[in-house]
Amino acid sequence: MKAVVLEEIGKPLQIKEFDVPRPGKGEVVIKIVRTGVCYRDVLTVDGFFPRVKLPLVLGHEIAGVIVDKGDRVEGFEIGDKVASLPYVPCGECEYCKTGRENICRNRRWYGEVLDGSYSEYVVVDQRSLVKLEKDIDWNYVAISSCVIGMVVHAITDFGGIRSGDRVLVTGASGGVGIHAIQIAKYFGGVVIAVTSKEEKVSFIESVKPDHIIVSKGDFSKDVKQLTGGGVDLVIEAVGEPTFSYSLRSLKWGGRMAVIGNVNVKSPPLPLGLIILRENIIHGVISSTKKSLRKALEIGYEGGVKAVGVEMSLWEVEKAHEILRRGEARGRVFLKP
Ligand SMILES: [Zn+2]
Ligand SMILES: [Zn+2]
Repeated sequence: MKAVVLEEIGKPLQIKEFDVPRPGKGEVVIKIVRTGVCYRDVLTVDGFFPRVKLPLVLGHEIAGVIVDKGDRVEGFEIGDKVASLPYVPCGECEYCKTGRENICRNRRWYGEVLDGSYSEYVVVDQRSLVKLEKDIDWNYVAISSCVIGMVVHAITDFGGIRSGDRVLVTGASGGVGIHAIQIAKYFGGVVIAVTSKEEKVSFIESVKPDHIIVSKGDFSKDVKQLTGGGVDLVIEAVGEPTFSYSLRSLKWGGRMAVIGNVNVKSPPLPLGLIILRENIIHGVISSTKKSLRKALEIGYEGGVKAVGVEMSLWEVEKAHEILRRGEARGRVFLKP
């Protein structure tokens, strides 16, 4: 089989030939049908994740069919179509036991310490997996955890969303943003999408946000004018470049889910403003099993569609370049 390997931090990825791996206890082998390209993968190449074990097969957005299973695998059979968490939870710590396995302290990420999905086959622990109940778009399955499940987690597990709540989505044309718009609408939100790029407006319109703001600077005045005081929820999919404006776009008592961190910098935190208006800022990492299942249910209903471009896995360098240049329109999906 072929796989895409990171041999050295900061160096071009290599396409290499390997034997198809064998599953260990509690593991299955999945034939990859589709994998998504995540900004995390780009940051991994750049050396932002110190635990990375080299050489490494990159990729953690896993969608495919089980072709082999090891001992003590229960509830999964050869031929099952599956979605996967991007990590293996330990199943035993306080977080795993309370449904917060996304912050399990012993979790191991695919494409970081375990070989990942930029490959024809990948070994996956059964604790990561959810079996598909219906056939859905494989692109959707690939991002059902890392994008859809994560945004579902951000929206539903921290105070929820009521119908008519105003939701601001930054980085609206990106892989997270274009889906966050749809997910917020699915949950009844009135969505304001923010982009810095005029040329992306018609693309963003394709997922029908209620408003689009084009701004390279402070968009909070426009948001306040549109909403008469600010939004209930911000889904911050960019990070430092937009964080301060997003914070100022919140209404009194509004909250922000911080998902993106494109330049790995930290913005200043105006404590007075946050105290005065009782704003809540919460970090969001990946998805839980529960939010992955919910994401798949939304997919079966057709409530949200995967949006992006498909490329060959073997064109991965080109795919990463698109992300580095901020040129992605939705997600980049790779096919082995
Ligand atoms: Zn991802
Ligand atoms: Zn755990």
